[in-house]
Parts: sequence; C-alpha cells; structure tokens
Amino acid sequence: MMPGIGTLRLPARIHVGYGTRAQLPAVAAVHGRRVLAVVDPFLTRTPFFDDLVGGMTAAGLEVKVHSDVTPELPVGTLDAAGEIARDFGPDVIVAIGGGSALDAAKLIALLAAHGGPLSAYYGENLVPGPVVPIVALPTTAGTGSEVTPVAVVSDPGRELKVGISSPFLVPAAAIVDPELTLDVPATVTAYSGIDALVHAVESYTARAFDLDFGGTLPVFTGRNALIAPIALRAAAHLGPWLPVAVATPGDREARHEVAVGALLGGIAFGSTGTHLCHALQYPIGALTKTPHGLGTGLMLPYVIDAIGDAPGMAARLAELGAAIGGPGSLRDRVVEINRQIGVPATLAEIGVTRDMLPHIAELATASKRLIAIAPIDPAPDVLLDILHRALEGVLT
Ligand code: NAD
Repeated sequence: MMPGIGTLRLPARIHVGYGTRAQLPAVAAVHGRRVLAVVDPFLTRTPFFDDLVGGMTAAGLEVKVHSDVTPELPVGTLDAAGEIARDFGPDVIVAIGGGSALDAAKLIALLAAHGGPLSAYYGENLVPGPVVPIVALPTTAGTGSEVTPVAVVSDPGRELKVGISSPFLVPAAAIVDPELTLDVPATVTAYSGIDALVHAVESYTARAFDLDFGGTLPVFTGRNALIAPIALRAAAHLGPWLPVAVATPGDREARHEVAVGALLGGIAFGSTGTHLCHALQYPIGALTKTPHGLGTGLMLPYVIDAIGDAPGMAARLAELGAAIGGPGSLRDRVVEINRQIGVPATLAEIGVTRDMLPHIAELATASKRLIAIAPIDPAPDVLLDILHRALEGVLT
C-alpha cells in the first residue's frame, strides 16, 4: 500500500460563521437567475424564510419555493418534485434545512438534470454527469450534507434506507450560518451532533485502500491523507461543545463550534467514508424506528472497543481522544458525551432483543461500501459480538 494518498471533492465555495447567510443572493447568482428553493417546512414558519428567500428576490432572482419535504424522504415524493423542477428549469437549486431537506435538494437536482426514476442511481457512481448546481444552507449541525457526495432515501420496496453517492452530488457552494441552528430542538441537536462526531471518528479510523488511479475512483476512498487533520479538528470542535449546545441551546459559541465541527466532519467522511457504526445503524434504525444519529452514537463506544487492536489503531484512537480533550480514553469520553446529551447506552433500551441480532448483523454485512472501509475484518461473528455487547452494555 502506498502511503499518503488523498482525494478531496468539495464545494467551490464554503462560508462558515454568523452572518454568512447574507452571501446567499450573490452566491446563488453565480449560477444564473432562476432559483428553485428547496426549503425545510419548519423554515416557512420563521423570519429566516423572508430573510433568505426575500433576499434573493430583492437581488433580482426569480425564486420558486418547494417546501414539501417529507422526513425520511420517501422516494415517490422526490420523483414528483423532480417533475416540478424539470418544468421550472432552474439555473440553481438553493437548499435550506436539515439533512433531509438538503438530501431532497440533491436528488431533485439530479432528477432535473437527468430524469428518473431515482432507483436507477442507487449505489455508487451511477449519476451520469453534472446535476443542477446546489447552494446548501444547513439549519441543523450534523449530517454535513452541505459538502458531501451522498443523499439517502427511503424506498418502500427495500428494508433499509438507500444511498445515492456520486461526486456530482457535492453542492457547488455551502453557507454554514450557526444563526440558523439556534432553535434546533434538543434531541435533533443531540442526535445529529453525535452523528457528526461519529463521522470524524470513522473517517480517522478508516481502512486504507490500494486505489487504482487509472480507473474510476470509488466515491469513498478509505483512509485519506488530506482528511486526517480535518477529522481531528472536527472531533476537537464537537467533543467539548456538543453537550453545551444540547444543555444550553442559546449558547452562540457552542452552536458555532458544533456547526464548524459538523461541517468538518462532513468534509472528512464525504471523501473517506464511514464504517461500522453506520453499517450497523441502518438495520437498527429500520427495526426500531429510531433516529440515525441516536443509533450511530449508541454504537460508537462498542465499535471503538472492537477496532482497538487493529494495527496502528491505538495511536489513532489516542489522537482522537487528545483532540477532544478531557480525562480518560476516547471510548470513555464518548460514553460520557452520550450520557450528557441523552443517547441511550444500550440497544436493549431502544427495543432491540437478542433474537434480532443475527438479522441486524446480516443486513449490516450487505452495506458493502461501509463494511469495505472498516479497519477490522467485519466477519458476521465479529459484528454479532459487537451487537451482543451493545445490547447488554458490556464495554471492555
Ligand atoms: P432532519 O433534516 O430530518 O430534521 C429533523 C427535524 O428538525 C425536522 O422536523 C426539521 O423540520 C427540523 N429542523 C431542521 N432544522 C431546524 C431548525 N433550525 N429549527 C427547528 N427545527 C428544525 O434531521 P437531520 O439530522 O439534519 O438530517 C437527517 C437526515 O439526513 C436523514 O435522512 C439522514 O439519512 C440524512 N443524512 C445525510 C447525510 C449526507 O451526507 N447526505 C449524512 C448523514 C445523514
């Protein structure tokens, strides 16, 4: 394996900090005058709607609003939205909202450019070319969707949510203004924030691949020299500040730190990929109907335990622990953060029973792109052992 190889695919512009949303009209206008605004339904009830949509109109842009975003993104609702977008013919899609709304915008941009059905693009590298440019403004801090090459949908014909991953889905621009996150409910702050910490840890601990630079590169590259420092910084922003943002939602510094951490976590996993917590959460989430971040956060201490003996891993875990700061190991810090923000400590607490574990392990194994990046050989018995420990709260 060649050391030090890296790949970064990013928006051409990223602005982060309080007040950066004022850049929206100028950034959108880079791509043309016709704007389809895909907005989270919550936003239409806030002053930000007039601020952001009104700001673009005042700047002379023609704005059509689509706010019919259904949580979990049932695929049928997106195919319909794609038709609306094709009729309108936007020059740019402005996405404002949580990860669900941002993912919806990516898929509408794909449908507007290439047509449906979305099922034709399930998997990796199946998007045939550039999509309508996207300018993304997250209103939650966690998913990192504003910078990532992936969107996730629910398809009633499938047991698990399914991803569409392509470098063409990376937004053209991201504007991360923490002001938009000040009213995020505590549970959403907690679950999306801990998912961002999982993005940082899984990016930093991913397996290295021998990439074939003569062929089509995978969307997610595994361990990536350009990403390592970014993943560490993400952990440093998130670890100390996520509990503060959950406990004191109006703390502007905490909201800023968590927004920056989530953005950096998105940059990190958007190139590297994620592994075992994510592979295990998809079936756990489907069976228990619990939020994505609750499941990835719950699994993180057990996955850290399981990968600890992989070559070179002790140093990596220690570096992540040092980045977060505070007493104890990385694993102990994560356990404490989970306790502080209300992430359950065991699978039993969210309704998982012992008889479900073999099916969860089997479905997790089917998430090949996630399993491929795991730093240990995730044989079914290894996954089952992690699940048994998580069921009962057994940490080594
Ligand atoms: P979300 O977008 O589902 O939003 C959760 C709730 O919070 C919704 O009711 C929403 O209306 C509300 N909300 C959003 N912003 C708010 C604000 N500022 N104030 C008040 N309410 C607000 O939650 P999420 O955690 O941001 O996203 C989860 C989704 O993202 C899942 O579908 C997951 O699969 C996906 N995801 C995508 C990526 C990616 O890279 N594309 C990564 C991780 C997760």
